[in-house]
Amino acid sequence: MATQRDYYDILGVPRGASDEELKRAFRRLAQQWHPDVSTEAGADDRFKEINEAYQVLSDPSRRKAYDLFGRAGVNGAGGEGFGPFAAGGGFGDLFDAFFGGAAAGATRRGRPPSGADLRYDLRLSFEEAMRGADKEVTFSALGRCATCAGSGAEPGTTPVTCARCNGTGELRTVRSTMLGQMVDVTPCGRCRGVGRVVDSPCVTCHGEGRSAQDRTIRVAVPAGIDEGHQIRLSGEGEAGPRGGPPGDLYVVTHVDAHPRLRRRETELYFELPISISQAALGARLMVPTLEGDESIEVKPGTQPGTEIRLRGKGVPHIRRNGARGDLHVLVDVRVPVRLGSRQRELLEAYAAESGELGGAEAAGTPSAGNGSAPAGGGTPRRRKSGIRDRLKDAIS
Ligand code: ZN
Ligand code: ZN
Repeated sequence: MATQRDYYDILGVPRGASDEELKRAFRRLAQQWHPDVSTEAGADDRFKEINEAYQVLSDPSRRKAYDLFGRAGVNGAGGEGFGPFAAGGGFGDLFDAFFGGAAAGATRRGRPPSGADLRYDLRLSFEEAMRGADKEVTFSALGRCATCAGSGAEPGTTPVTCARCNGTGELRTVRSTMLGQMVDVTPCGRCRGVGRVVDSPCVTCHGEGRSAQDRTIRVAVPAGIDEGHQIRLSGEGEAGPRGGPPGDLYVVTHVDAHPRLRRRETELYFELPISISQAALGARLMVPTLEGDESIEVKPGTQPGTEIRLRGKGVPHIRRNGARGDLHVLVDVRVPVRLGSRQRELLEAYAAESGELGGAEAAGTPSAGNGSAPAGGGTPRRRKSGIRDRLKDAIS
C-alpha cells in the first residue's frame, strides 16, 4: 500500500491531463480494481492506490502542491476510504449496503439476519441507454431453499424456541461497576440471534435455509440511463439465512460510447467540420442524431465556434417523462492546408477583390478596412487554436 509510484503513472494519464481525463481514467481503473469486482490478489491495495492518486489530482490545490513538491506536498492523502464515489452516489452506497446490510440485520433482536446485497454490472449499448431496454440478467446467488421454504428445518418439523435465550435471541448479563449496574447484551450463540433452533436440519441446505441457485431477472432500464447509474431491485439480493429477509440487487450500468456523438448527462455534442467557403456561403449539411442523420442549415457568414442547437434532440431525462436535452452542433471551420493551383488563383482573386495584398505579405499586414469580416485580422493559425480551445471547453 505504501507505494511511492507517481500519481500520474498510477492513473495512466499524462501530467497535463484534464479533469475529465482524470475522471475517466479513475472510473475505468476503479471499475477494474474495485475489491467488489476484482478477484485478483492485491486488488484492494491497488484500488487504494488508485483512489489516493485520484483524490490528490482531482483537487486543484493538492494537485498543484503535488506537481511542485511530490508526495511531500500532499501528505495525508491516503486513508480516506472511498470518498470520491460516496459523493457521486457510486460505490460508497454499495459499500454500506455490502457491509452494513447483513451485519445490521443480525443485531436486530430475535430475528434472522437479512441476506447480503448484490451487485450486477450491466453493459448497455448507447442506443439501449437512449431508448430504454428490457434486459434479462442471469447470475448465481443464494436463494431461499425450496425443500424447507427457508426455515432450515427438515420438512415436517418446525424450529423450536431456543432454550438458552428463551427465544429472545440475545443474552443479558448484569455486572456491577463503579457507576452502578450495567447490562451487557450479546447475541445468543446457540441460536445465532434468531431465537429459534432447528433440531433436525433440512438435508438440502444443512439448516441454512438457503442454497446457491441460478437466477434470471428482468431489469427494466429506463431511457436516459448513464454510465455508473444504479438500479435497485428491492429484495432481489441474497436470501437471508434461516428465513431472514433477502438483500437487494444493485444493477450498475455501463454505457458504450456513441461513435460520433459525445454525451454529457442529457446533452449531446457533435463537432461539425465545414470549409471556409461553406462558412461564408452557407450550406446544408448532415449531422448524426439519435433518429438518424439529419440535414441542418449552416447560414451564410457562419463564424468559427458557432453552436447550432437542435432542441429536444438530446438524451431523455431519466426522471421527467418525455423531456429531452439538446443536441449541440459545434461548427469548426477548417482552413485548407493545401490548395490546388486553380483554388489558389481563385482565393488570390478573392483577396485582391477584398483589397488585401496577395501571398505571404498578407499575414503580417492585417487590413484595417475590412469591417465586414469580424474574423479578419489576426493570423489564421492563432485564430484556429482559439476555436479548438473553445470547442474543448464546451465539450469537456
Ligand atoms: Zn432447506
Ligand atoms: Zn438463543
